[in-house]
Amino acid sequence: MIKLPEDGELIRIEGGVWKVPNKPIVAYIEGDGIGPEVIRPTIEIVNEAVSLCYGSSREIKWVKLYAGDEAEKLFGTRLPEETLKTLEVVRVLLKGPLYTPPGGGWRSINVFLRQHFDLYANIRPVKYFDGLPSPLKNPQGIDMVIFRENTDDLYVGIEWPWDSQEAKKVREFLKKEFGIELPEDTGIGIKPMSRYKTIRIARLAIRYAISTGRKFVTVVHKGNIMKYTEGAFREWVYEVALKEFGDYFITEKELYEKYGGRIPEGKLVINDRIMDNMLQQIVLNPQQFQVIICPNVNGDYLSDAAAALVGGVSVAPSANIGDTAALFEPVHGTAPDIAGKGIANPTAALLSACLMLEYMGWHEAANLIREAIQEVIRQGKVTADLARLMGKDKYLKTEEYKREILEIMHSLKH
Ligand code: ATP
Repeated sequence: MIKLPEDGELIRIEGGVWKVPNKPIVAYIEGDGIGPEVIRPTIEIVNEAVSLCYGSSREIKWVKLYAGDEAEKLFGTRLPEETLKTLEVVRVLLKGPLYTPPGGGWRSINVFLRQHFDLYANIRPVKYFDGLPSPLKNPQGIDMVIFRENTDDLYVGIEWPWDSQEAKKVREFLKKEFGIELPEDTGIGIKPMSRYKTIRIARLAIRYAISTGRKFVTVVHKGNIMKYTEGAFREWVYEVALKEFGDYFITEKELYEKYGGRIPEGKLVINDRIMDNMLQQIVLNPQQFQVIICPNVNGDYLSDAAAALVGGVSVAPSANIGDTAALFEPVHGTAPDIAGKGIANPTAALLSACLMLEYMGWHEAANLIREAIQEVIRQGKVTADLARLMGKDKYLKTEEYKREILEIMHSLKH
């Protein structure tokens, strides 16, 4: 295991609840392509925000871990044992993108880490910063966080081609046991959705909603058609909200019938939307959503559609979180076309770090960084990717963008 900073302490995550010391140890992997160009300024900005908000009473003790190209060069392997062993202890990771060759070569480290640490929730914040390019007329105020279940549903990969022995056996079984006859050219996929896996992501999302002062939690599903998978998902999320967190929640029906449309102090509303309607709603009235919980497949569609509303991939943060570990990373890939040119946009990595700060309970630092991002974008001081979308000729290099953010954070604090 890599030597940990002696003056730092480990974050403890038990059953999804975080205990964060004042000098927590956090691991980082710079990643491939533009990874180092976005992770290094992110760490610098996070350190400065923490220092501006808490003085010397709090400080992140970073520990650098190796993976991807850098690890391959130094140790001859893309995911050294030491990295994994250290992560098993440190459990919180800020990560740049890692390259995976399409169609084989080596296995995706991202997928490996997700499975190894059972990171069952993929979290995608979708926030509009005034001035960002958007296809919407009124994107102002969009601020939702999507919790997508990551370990259940059709994408788990239980499927067989139409001409396999397995598909044939399943077709025969269905015919014999249930009288269900499928044509012989039918491929088979299975959509498992379990109570346990639904309940754990519901808890995670609901705790986040409560701790960040949100007012609405929305379950997205296709339960009108797939009653015992998607429909059950809906039922189980409601069950968690109304039974386990009953002191906090009212239903949408109660909101209007009992409280005249005004949410009582200290309460949140739980509601649900059917997936097809949801894809209309996030375009027509996205401001109504705050925390969204959805199954794996719907979540895939929804999170990409939502990211397009607020500036796209270079400003889209994410996290993969489980009950005992958490990984924060930008949604974008290694962007080999611009790697090494010093023009990458670090905003997605920075917003991923903000989500991490929120999980740590360090909301002031997260808010300060977000305010500074808002200010640079408002002033049109953006990197090349956004400048192009905004129709501007002038743009900032990554270093200059970082300096602007640091300056604005200082001015906001003084
Ligand atoms: P992969 O590593 O998975 O092959 P990629 O980087 O090619 O991914 P995306 O993440 O979808 O794919 O990025 C597509 C393009 O968007 C990049 O090639 C790059 O031009 C641009 N881009 C992505 N992220 C950023 C960023 N942070 N800053 C500037 N441009 C970006």
